[in-house]
Amino acid sequence: MTRIAFIGLGNMGGGMCANLVKAGHAVAAFDLNQDAVKAVAAKGARAASSVADAVRDADVVVSMLPAGKHVLGVYFGPDGVCAQAPKGGLLIDCSTIAVTDAREAHAQAERAGFLMVDAPVSGGVAAAEAGTLTFMAGGAADAFGKAEPILKGMGKNIFHAGGAGNGQAAKIANNMLLGISMIATCEAFNLAEKLGLDAETFFKISSVSSGQCWSMTSYCPAPGPVPTSPANRDYKPGFAVAMMLKDLLLAADAARASGAGIRLGEHAASIYQALSDKGFAGLDFSGVMKDVKGGSAG
Ligand code: NAD
Repeated sequence: MTRIAFIGLGNMGGGMCANLVKAGHAVAAFDLNQDAVKAVAAKGARAASSVADAVRDADVVVSMLPAGKHVLGVYFGPDGVCAQAPKGGLLIDCSTIAVTDAREAHAQAERAGFLMVDAPVSGGVAAAEAGTLTFMAGGAADAFGKAEPILKGMGKNIFHAGGAGNGQAAKIANNMLLGISMIATCEAFNLAEKLGLDAETFFKISSVSSGQCWSMTSYCPAPGPVPTSPANRDYKPGFAVAMMLKDLLLAADAARASGAGIRLGEHAASIYQALSDKGFAGLDFSGVMKDVKGGSAG
């Protein structure tokens, strides 16, 4: 049993925190939203009244927060984790944040006497609840070695992607590929339909041909072929346009900083941005199909 402080109990963090309790850890949980704290307290976590209260005797701190500014504030603010937790502990940040913010967090954590791992996830709310997330972790080998058994309580596939920030690098490169491939899949289904093929027929052919990809076979954006995909419930998320846009903008920043060319990644960001500007930020990202069908994507 490990003493864990969990900070950030939103759509993802709530289920992840509950799974750590289920795995037999003593978990103290904190969120600015009291209802979120009550929900995990009902599942066996200790309701903490502040970050300081949550981390006061923690061996490990796990966080699942919206963005880099929240992560840096929670860890390094005056009443934050590093000022309040016992020195020598392990910090695991599972939020999706900029590679530069993650590397800054690692450097500050090390200076304050903590081990750190950036461990963003692939998989949505359902995987967070089921404990089947994929974690891609960045950090020193000893930090990863200590984090792995904790991450196993919340996920199925755990990868060590390399040093500080490499978890975030893997995450945004993967999600950029997903964002692009989803638009390409929508365009292919729309073109096939305009040329006289129905979605089922095109799916049968392309899903076993060279155009096959995850966006098609697991998450088909055309209604019909994949019953579990959001296309069959009018693109209710799932993984919202706003989340995809966030990840593509992080990828664009990281590409600029590293000199990597991502022409399609930037174009994909502009397509999701346009969808968001039209009021569809809350739609599943496969709802880009609506835009493609309207003929305005791109
Ligand atoms: P969310 O907004 O539902 O949850 C974030 C929680 O953090 C909220 O409950 C909020 O009150 C809390 N919070 C914010 N500032 C805080 C502070 N200073 N102290 C304590 N709590 C604070 O977001 P989410 O959907 O759970 O996503 C969390 C992270 O996971 C994001 O970085 C997101 O990009 C990433 N992610 C989300 C999904 C998804 O499908 N939702 C999938 C993969 C990765």
